[in-house]
Amino acid sequence: MIDLKGKVAVVFGLANKRSIAWGIAQKLAEAGATLAICYQSERLQRDADALAAELPAAKTYQCDVSSDAEIDSLFIKLKDDYGKLNILVHAVAFAPPDEIKSDFLFTSREGFRIAHDVSVYSLIAVSRAAVPLMTEGGSIITLTYYGSTKVFPNYNVMGLAKASLEACVRYLAASLGSKNIRVNAISAGPIKTLAARGIGDFTKILDAVTERAPLHRNVDQLEVGNTALFLASDLASGITGETTFVDCGYNITGL
Ligand code: NAD
Repeated sequence: MIDLKGKVAVVFGLANKRSIAWGIAQKLAEAGATLAICYQSERLQRDADALAAELPAAKTYQCDVSSDAEIDSLFIKLKDDYGKLNILVHAVAFAPPDEIKSDFLFTSREGFRIAHDVSVYSLIAVSRAAVPLMTEGGSIITLTYYGSTKVFPNYNVMGLAKASLEACVRYLAASLGSKNIRVNAISAGPIKTLAARGIGDFTKILDAVTERAPLHRNVDQLEVGNTALFLASDLASGITGETTFVDCGYNITGL
């Protein structure tokens, strides 16, 4: 049994009970970690507060990760409230709706910039802010998707952002290894969340997994949460810079 008592985890990306961040937060809390849960904007506060109330001693914080000022003030609060951090979960991504519905050829300069800023640069920004608090070493975990490597309909600029995110994990792992901070990505199979609903024809992707993945089903948030729990724990002490698939094996299939 993994024991995270005495560990403090900050989780970014809670929108609602379907969020992968929620699956991860539940698993980390079950193992005894103290949770700081971040939501993007006031609009999401009520849902975040209601979910956090289900976990022992979880607190919520507002932070738009595209704002350096908001990141700075969040980490000042986290330092005041906890004094240290052990685990950081980055379950955040965004691309403007038009970019993940239409022909990739028409990806706009601004859509490209926003997708990479929110979905990739934010990992660097929150990691840099977290490092001074990770005095006992740490585990940083982000969420990626197989669209980084293979072409999926409508995934478009998010595929580029995820490819960059996976490279970012490797560079951060190299940068932070000497501080005993590990950085890993989980490549989750498709899950019907708010973010996923924005991707045109998403059900086709879910159906393909049911048909072709070795386990012939889709994953759920708690299975991703279990892998995050493992990566957050000392059981994964030798693993950094990796992308771990939690996708019922879909990525190994040819046809
Ligand atoms: P979700 O919509 O529940 O979560 C996405 C979160 O990103 C939301 O909480 C949203 O508020 C947050 N966010 C967006 N812009 C932000 C900003 N500027 N500042 C702060 N937060 C911001 O959807 P999800 O599927 O749980 O997504 C979580 C992560 O998992 C994403 O990185 C996504 O790409 C990844 N992922 C999802 C799937 C899937 O099929 N659902 C598969 C693989 C990877």
